[in-house]
Amino acid sequence: MPRSPVSSLARRPGLLAAVLFMATMALAAALAWQAAGAAASHRAAAEATLTHHAIIAAWRMSREGRSWVGYGMSQAEDQLLRETAQHSELPGPELLRRALAEKDCDCMSAGFSRAIFRMVNNGEPKLDWLGEPLSDSARQALLHAVLRAAADTAPRKGPRAWQILAPGEPGLGHTTDFVLLWKIGDPKHGVRAIYGMVVEPAQIARPLRGALGEANFFPPSLVPERSADSLVRIEVAGPNRQPVFVAGPDTHRFVGSDTMGLAFGNLTVTAAIDPAASRLLIKGGLPGSRAPMIVALLSLTLAMGGAALLLLRREQRLARLREDFVSGVSHELRTPLTQIRMLSELLQSDGFHTDAERTRATEVIHREALRLTNLVDNVLEFSRLRRPNPAPAPEPVSLAGVIRELAESFAPLLNAQGDRLELALDVDLEVSGDRDAISRVLRNLVENAVKYGPPGQAIRLTLAATDPPGGARVTVDDQGPGIPADERLRIWQPYYRLDRDRNAPAGGSGLGLSVVADLMRLLGGRASVESAPGGGARFTVEFPGAVTRAPAPP
Ligand code: ADP
Repeated sequence: MPRSPVSSLARRPGLLAAVLFMATMALAAALAWQAAGAAASHRAAAEATLTHHAIIAAWRMSREGRSWVGYGMSQAEDQLLRETAQHSELPGPELLRRALAEKDCDCMSAGFSRAIFRMVNNGEPKLDWLGEPLSDSARQALLHAVLRAAADTAPRKGPRAWQILAPGEPGLGHTTDFVLLWKIGDPKHGVRAIYGMVVEPAQIARPLRGALGEANFFPPSLVPERSADSLVRIEVAGPNRQPVFVAGPDTHRFVGSDTMGLAFGNLTVTAAIDPAASRLLIKGGLPGSRAPMIVALLSLTLAMGGAALLLLRREQRLARLREDFVSGVSHELRTPLTQIRMLSELLQSDGFHTDAERTRATEVIHREALRLTNLVDNVLEFSRLRRPNPAPAPEPVSLAGVIRELAESFAPLLNAQGDRLELALDVDLEVSGDRDAISRVLRNLVENAVKYGPPGQAIRLTLAATDPPGGARVTVDDQGPGIPADERLRIWQPYYRLDRDRNAPAGGSGLGLSVVADLMRLLGGRASVESAPGGGARFTVEFPGAVTRAPAPP
């Protein structure tokens, strides 16, 4: 039956974890993408709102500006009509100055004029001029513009017969000068004359300032009236883009514009809203960028996912080591148990012919029982060390004494292997600690030397003072294969066994050296491994606080 992909994934937890990790990351990335998109559209909507407010502000200013400037122009027009009505012949340009200077005329001011002029519409194109002279070309351009205005009979709303020519149209030398025109005539006879005035931008700026005060850019319920002006920048410019009126803060971010129309020289009003207004106009203000937060959260998710994967890998390695442990221990148990059972059965049934055979059998039973005891002791010690236990009270321990005892108890095992145990105990050193723990440390090291070294080898146990003095060092040298340099740290981990020994006949639990390391830590000392001079392994344990005793008894 073909395997489904899901069941084959379930059979390989590592692959499953990797797939889940990738899926989680993809999901987190998708969520981050969504969040970034939502934040961007939130921001875009808020920005669009501010731009709309700018467009409305420009429109309000332009409407109010038309009203203020138009009022002044219309008042001047009325005054001019009144004045011209009193004369059968149209007076010269000075009439305009007189009309504007009238006390009760609330009209444009003659004070800002550079020059005033008049053109009589009698087919003889000529400007009667008073004031600053113009270059010939500027004068020609102005004459054409005035003639065009006179010819313009397009119907307009109301009786308005005035017009503003924006700066630069025509070009008159000063790039910000306006030309104000008033047409005198009637519907029957058409335009009889045009009075005009070349003025500085202040002429227009004055009514625009008044308009600004009335424009009401925002509903007072949203923005208090006194702060409205400080939040909106207003710029009025002619088609030549030369600003003729500027007010408000220096901001150019959220911009809208409106034009004042042909009669006002197509002046453009541009409004820009200060981002500071966003808190008043939009609930919660302009949303800040979420990118750093999203990147941080994504990195955190990635880091946590990575950590989970690492933990999983560690867990898997531990599980494999535990499996090795179980099979190693089973092997360790089965071999001596089988030997003990067989030999004891033979002893029971009197199956041996000679006393020597019987003695040999009891020796083997003893040796195997010893190995079993040691194995079980190591397992128990390992689990004891992982529980909180009160440390036994330290006692003075003679290291030479412990080593001699050990040599005695190992004699049957060593004999069986044909191994030699050489003791180099030139000095006795006494340390303070748990005697059983010290004995277990050395027992494990010697047992490993016997187990992993070749039969018939010499195992050397040396006791010496440390350099600098103050501690005791015990080394166990064997003539086995040694420990490869890159494994010398890992062999101290619980359940760890070298690959070459995993399936070797000499089974093991992988706990012996981890018990050695733990006990040495508790004793305040340390354990290490290197190569022995003969090529085997040299395990060294160092105990602190050693006191030299009299030369070791034989
Ligand atoms: P084990 O019960 O397997 O002996 P240990 O923790 O005592 O467990 O040792 C861990 C591993 O280190 C062993 O499986 C073996 O591969 C290696 N080892 C330990 N002592 C020696 C030694 N004297 N010579 C060679 N290899 C050794």
